[in-house]
Amino acid sequence: MDTTYLKKFYKKKHDDKINALFLADVISKQEKDVLLNRTLELDSDTANHMIENYIGNYSMPLGVAMNYIIDQEELVVPMAIEEPSVIAASSFAAKIIGSAGGFKTTVTRRMMIGQVTLKAVPNLEVAEQKIKEAKKDILSRANEAHPSIVKRGGGAKNLEVRILTDDTNNNIPTYLSVHVHISTQEAMGANIVNTMMESIAPYLEELTQGKALLRILTNYATECLATSTCVIPAHKLKTGEFSGEEVRDRIIEANQIATIDPYRAVTHNKGIMNGVDAVVLASGNDWRAIEAGVHAYASRSGQYRSLTSWTKNDAGDLVGELTLPLPVGTVGGSISIHPGAKLAHSIMGHPNAPKLERIIVSVGLAQNFAAVRALVTEGIQKGHMGLHARSLAISAGAKGDHIQQVADILKHSKHKNLQRAKNILLNILEEFEK
Ligand code: NDP
Repeated sequence: MDTTYLKKFYKKKHDDKINALFLADVISKQEKDVLLNRTLELDSDTANHMIENYIGNYSMPLGVAMNYIIDQEELVVPMAIEEPSVIAASSFAAKIIGSAGGFKTTVTRRMMIGQVTLKAVPNLEVAEQKIKEAKKDILSRANEAHPSIVKRGGGAKNLEVRILTDDTNNNIPTYLSVHVHISTQEAMGANIVNTMMESIAPYLEELTQGKALLRILTNYATECLATSTCVIPAHKLKTGEFSGEEVRDRIIEANQIATIDPYRAVTHNKGIMNGVDAVVLASGNDWRAIEAGVHAYASRSGQYRSLTSWTKNDAGDLVGELTLPLPVGTVGGSISIHPGAKLAHSIMGHPNAPKLERIIVSVGLAQNFAAVRALVTEGIQKGHMGLHARSLAISAGAKGDHIQQVADILKHSKHKNLQRAKNILLNILEEFEK
């Protein structure tokens, strides 16, 4: 990638942006033509086979976040999102973090977890013992149900037994849950895992004398974690109003509040997911699965808390860290079908699944940094409303060049609302007709 073509990317016109991506070797000639001809479309035949009762495509803007340096590699990150200012904030944060050495990431061994939950087990201790003794047999039966993943180097690798007892005083009976740890290689693996769980359930019933009620993966992917960290010297945080040290300390304090207050933590984490979801969606992955897992992970202490940590090191630098369960894939689902997803993988240089995790967790950290930094300094409305002004202009009916003209006037108006946007547009149109 040659980033010289990507300088001041946000200032370029739409077609020049696409050309710059081509010149920088981020997209191919064919991808450039598709984007220039506005033909990045999911065809209706394919879509009709993807879901039921298909009636049409629901479009979402696809953009790119710039300035990312992840494990010393420069990257352009595709983001599918309808919310203004997310991509600008992401690029802004990545620039500051990039100027301080970028993101450093780690990933755990990718293991998905399948669950078979049994009811009416007559003797839980005996059942647990029998399952543990039959571990090898259970794992090989699971692998026999999906031999192709074993050939690829994956498959069922480990097993644990959990006794689920009522902690709510609601007379819920005790259940027994068998967890199987499965390497699904490049896939997110829901279908692989579910097939395996359904295949071992009768054997588990035989072993436990219970009845298998649920046979599916858990989206709480605690064996598939990705961590991103960054270190930002305080002087890089300086704003017109605050010194770098003040901004650093205010970010740390904001993070402390999100650690102890769930009301703040939810919004804090939503900001992280602005970036995470946008890349997960662009890459054709199941964002509901990621959302569900991430929020459970935020509650792992028993209380919903901030997913990020912001502290200072001995040198006085701001140190950020984010860990997320990220069971994403680079094959399967809609990934190799959806043209937008295919383009997104291409923009990122066709990362393998662990690398995609590294990218996504870094985007989450950047997004959190941008949001909290803005919140503790100028507030987020200044930047947000500037970009929101364009959405208001479009809602007011502005077209072409008038969108920016209305937005520019609106940005400096006291009341930035739809009625004001309509009035501004009316004035412009009247001027235009004179
Ligand atoms: P798929 O079943 O679509 O695809 C995975 C398949 O891709 C594998 O079985 C394998 O088949 C093939 N493959 C090719 N190359 C590789 C490779 N290098 N590594 C691994 N597999 C490879 O997808 P998943 O099993 O990943 O399931 C994901 C889908 O399941 C998503 O669409 C998700 O929305 C959905 N889903 C999610 C649920 C949840 O999250 N709770 C529940 C149910 C479904 P082969 O080896 O035979 O070639």
